[in-house]
Amino acid sequence: MERLQKVIAQAGITSRRKAEQLIIDGKVKVNGKVVRELGVKVTPNKDEIEVEGVPIDREEPVYFLLYKPSGVISSVNDEKGRKTVTDFLEIEQRVFPVGRLDYDTSGLILLTNDGDFANMLMHPKFKMEKVYVAKVKGIPSREKLKQLQNGVMLEDGKTAPAKVKMMSIDKKKQTSIIRLTIHEGRNRQVRRMFDAIEHPVMKLKREQYSFLDLRGMNPGDVRPLKPIEVKHLR
Ligand code: URA
Repeated sequence: MERLQKVIAQAGITSRRKAEQLIIDGKVKVNGKVVRELGVKVTPNKDEIEVEGVPIDREEPVYFLLYKPSGVISSVNDEKGRKTVTDFLEIEQRVFPVGRLDYDTSGLILLTNDGDFANMLMHPKFKMEKVYVAKVKGIPSREKLKQLQNGVMLEDGKTAPAKVKMMSIDKKKQTSIIRLTIHEGRNRQVRRMFDAIEHPVMKLKREQYSFLDLRGMNPGDVRPLKPIEVKHLR
């Protein structure tokens, strides 16, 4: 038995908080009866749940880790017919990405059909650690790297303190490889942070997400998360 709002959120329809509001608003039926209390427990795949008149199909939750190649879009469909992250999976369940990586960014992205899990991971409160490796134009001074570390001012506010490590420098080509660890997830944040110190990103890869990394994987590879990994992320 599970709480009704959790089952609705897990179906990927909405967040748990919005599911609660739908229940309070009388928009949810269990076995044909409107339920307005939040404490109600249901048995998934046995009780019939309808949200705004539409039955929810509660599939088994599935969780995958994809090494996204660059040149792939982080959504379920693309109007322009470009390759999307879900094209790497041949499964019946409809999964969606947890957050996004830019079209040109490669690296680790999670895919799931568990809306509740995805909403939780994306919530700023959880401050999931993300490690990026960026190839940037030029060779940033110590001063500039310190600025990245302390936080730089972007259009949507100052960034939180970050870990910054210079990995290598190519003096001839005038490029550098820098590892950046952040806990926020703003849109195009890493690119904007490097733009702010005037060393634009030429190439970007996300190497780690929390304790998960890409060891042993190649671009385009996908693997299911182990139950213990899902548990640790929660
Ligand atoms: N920051 C970016 O700028 N791009 C990404 O894809 C991820 C983080």
